[in-house]
Amino acid sequence: MCSSRHPSTLVIGAGIIGTSLAYELQKRGRRVVLVDRDEPGRGASYGPLASIAVSEFMPLARPSTWKQIPGWMLDPEGPIRVSPRYLPKLIPWFLRFLKASQPRTVRHLEMAGAALSERALSDTQALLQELDLRSHISASGCLSLYASEAEFKSDLERINMLDRFGFNYDVLDRSALRVLEPEITSEITKAVLLPNNRTVADPHAIVRRLVERFRALGGEVCQADVVGFERSDRITEVRLGTGQNLNADEVILCAGAYTARLSRFLGEPIPLESERGYHTQIQDPGLQLSHSIIWPAKAFMVSPTGGGIRVGGTVEMAGLDAAPNYDRAKVTVRRAQRALPNLKVRDHQEWMGHRPAFPDTIPLISPSAKTPGLFYATGHGHLGLTYAATTAKLMSELITGQTPSIDLAAYHINRF
Ligand SMILES: Cc1cc2nc3c(=O)[nH]c(=O)nc-3n(C[C@H](O)[C@H](O)[C@H](O)COP(=O)(O)OP(=O)(O)OC[C@H]3O[C@@H](n4cnc5c(N)ncnc54)[C@H](O)[C@@H]3O)c2cc1C
Repeated sequence: MCSSRHPSTLVIGAGIIGTSLAYELQKRGRRVVLVDRDEPGRGASYGPLASIAVSEFMPLARPSTWKQIPGWMLDPEGPIRVSPRYLPKLIPWFLRFLKASQPRTVRHLEMAGAALSERALSDTQALLQELDLRSHISASGCLSLYASEAEFKSDLERINMLDRFGFNYDVLDRSALRVLEPEITSEITKAVLLPNNRTVADPHAIVRRLVERFRALGGEVCQADVVGFERSDRITEVRLGTGQNLNADEVILCAGAYTARLSRFLGEPIPLESERGYHTQIQDPGLQLSHSIIWPAKAFMVSPTGGGIRVGGTVEMAGLDAAPNYDRAKVTVRRAQRALPNLKVRDHQEWMGHRPAFPDTIPLISPSAKTPGLFYATGHGHLGLTYAATTAKLMSELITGQTPSIDLAAYHINRF
């Protein structure tokens, strides 16, 4: 049985977003119950590529993306794969994606992403310091690789955007790159160093530590499936699969890609989809990297982590229920071996997770438009680990009646 204290704040979903928020609210004096049907951190937050990717806020929805979509659809190894069986269900999301690609909208979305990214690293560092995990974050940035001038040119849109928002980067030639990362193939002729991106040793360990500290502050973790809600003129109770109801003064939905299923119970549908992603954790890879690397033309990333290196990337749109297709993971490993010719893949594990993604690439950090006392913190897509500490701060400010330290209008539910 989960205890049903009153008044209490219920945070639904113990991924990196829910645990960061539960910890922050408990610290600010709220009595918080964190509810998850699973062990904390076993959803998408188990396996991110460990990157605090502050330079990666370019919205995927943009005119240049949709020109590439037909080619991706035809390429089973392309960066985005849509399951033909899932395509009909995806059409409403996809239409919103096209709408978000209008040049004027893209500019607003870039600003919304930049506002979070500008403070994401310092918020994450402060949180890790508080959790005594300061040594878990790398000091080196990320290298973006190009095998030709044409590959570099096709990434200029992103680099120019970093310029516009004042984010640091350095363009490196082959010899400067070799000094930084000698393991990278000489096929790479140019690179961009993104010095403010960072890597954490083990994303799941951060969730575990957050839960530990949350409990130490008096927070309660309740393992149960949320199956419904009770309302009067505001949210009053959360219904659990065990038959028990938990009293609630406030409820914050942080159930990752499953949040849309919960918001439907409340008559407030949100256009949230799973952008499924894969990683391969490789122990004893036979080489050492100090930077994470991305090769945009090949759509993969490699991150040095506590237990070896982690390889992944690409997007698969197949919904929440389809079985994993680990061929997607194998493609990224083959590409990583091309970038890192000495990479050995012996002892390794493959994993699939659901990135919670809105069609405009921007998270939802918002009160409900329909139900007083209900809030959302979800839809962080490819950047949930990056934005978790910042989201927790902003959401706590909102819930405890402080003026949020950045304007939250761009992340409001009214945009749908
Ligand atoms: C392959 C891959 C690589 C990635 N790499 C990075 C990266 O390098 N950097 C980065 O910033 N981000 C990265 N991401 C994105 C990041 O992992 C996600 O944005 C983030 O983990 C989402 O966190 P969350 O807390 O919203 O969701 P989740 O971690 O999925 O947590 C949601 C929780 O809700 C619970 N839940 C759902 N429904 C219910 C219910 N009805 N009742 C009770 N509990 C429920 C689930 O059990 C789960 O624990 C990556 C994602 C993937 C898949």
